[in-house]
Amino acid sequence: MINLVEVTKYYPGQEQPAVDNLSLTIEKGETCVFVGPSGCGKSTTLRMINRMIEISSGKIYLDGKDILQSDPDQLRMGIGYVIQQIGLLPHRTIEENIAIVPRLHGWSKERIKHRVTELLELMGLDPEVERNKYPLQLSGGQMQRVGVARAMAADPPIMLMDEPFGAVDPIARNYLQDEFLRLQREIKKTICFVTHDINEAIKMGDKIAIYNKGAIVQHGTPQEILTNPANDFVKDFIGSDRMVKKLNLTCVEELVRPVSCLVNEGELSNAVDKLKETGADVCFVVDSSGKPVGYLTKEEVISLSDKITLEGLVQLVSSKGNAFTPGSTPLQNALSLMLEYDTEYLGIVQGDQLIGAISFKDIRKHMCRKEGE
Ligand code: ADP
Ligand code: MG
Repeated sequence: MINLVEVTKYYPGQEQPAVDNLSLTIEKGETCVFVGPSGCGKSTTLRMINRMIEISSGKIYLDGKDILQSDPDQLRMGIGYVIQQIGLLPHRTIEENIAIVPRLHGWSKERIKHRVTELLELMGLDPEVERNKYPLQLSGGQMQRVGVARAMAADPPIMLMDEPFGAVDPIARNYLQDEFLRLQREIKKTICFVTHDINEAIKMGDKIAIYNKGAIVQHGTPQEILTNPANDFVKDFIGSDRMVKKLNLTCVEELVRPVSCLVNEGELSNAVDKLKETGADVCFVVDSSGKPVGYLTKEEVISLSDKITLEGLVQLVSSKGNAFTPGSTPLQNALSLMLEYDTEYLGIVQGDQLIGAISFKDIRKHMCRKEGE
């Protein structure tokens, strides 16, 4: 656990503090993202935690121990640190770069070699190909991954990450974010993560601390902050698409409901009667292997003329032939699919099997629900 108590930092000659009487607790195993405009004191906060910068006043405790009571070098050996500039030593190989802290810990050569292999694999890099290269022989995204591997080398319980994915293109960035989230679910480090990008904060943070001028103006879960921005600054910082951003926090599987009306494509003509009989809003159609091929809605049936042919029916159903998505899809993407395919419903699939459905109305209801309902 990291505890900051009324921490203030004045740089020499500054009239305004870079960090102003800041108190914050980061629980063990939690990722807390510091987010805010440039110059608001995020990096300064981070660097006070590992004593790269000394505090002007206030206290910082790691697991209850005042950091001033630890030797700075000892302290830093227990804290992984990743920076945007990556900071790999250019004349050392990837292996040597990753091995810096384990060497300081006095690990044996074998143990270090084994750990480097393990970390490169974890980061999706081929150890035998990459370990003897020099940093400049790698792409930006690869270097960034080596930077993360280096910070994790001696398995520190705490990681400080200062815009760790800032130096790569959006595609690599998205990939690194996803990989890191996957990894964090296993390793459960206590992480302070700095970014100026609110989307990255929402994606990466268990908690978010929103900064303005050296102070935290709101601290809470992404859900809390998006639902109840504390003031106009937070509201502006999040952006007017707050509810659309909030769509990302929920996956369709949380709203999925069973399909109450289903026909096989061989018995498509039954769909019309079935919809009328059951009173269901929608009838899904599957092929003989259970794979969805489309659906028919009550409204469509009502507006159908009696003269509709079987071909006409097939066409109507298959015009929704793409409206299916796995349960892990965030609501934002689900909504995007509904707009793309101009459909009111999405079938939810596991592999290629239909397991449920979600409607536009379900999403709207969910988003308009008050907290705690
Ligand atoms: P952020 O990481 O949020 O962009 P910083 O913590 O780097 O912000 O900076 C906070 C404020 O402190 C800024 O006004 C910046 O100019 C100032 N500052 C940062 N580092 C130093 C330094 N080494 N010496 C003097 N002022 C600094
Ligand atoms: Mg910074």
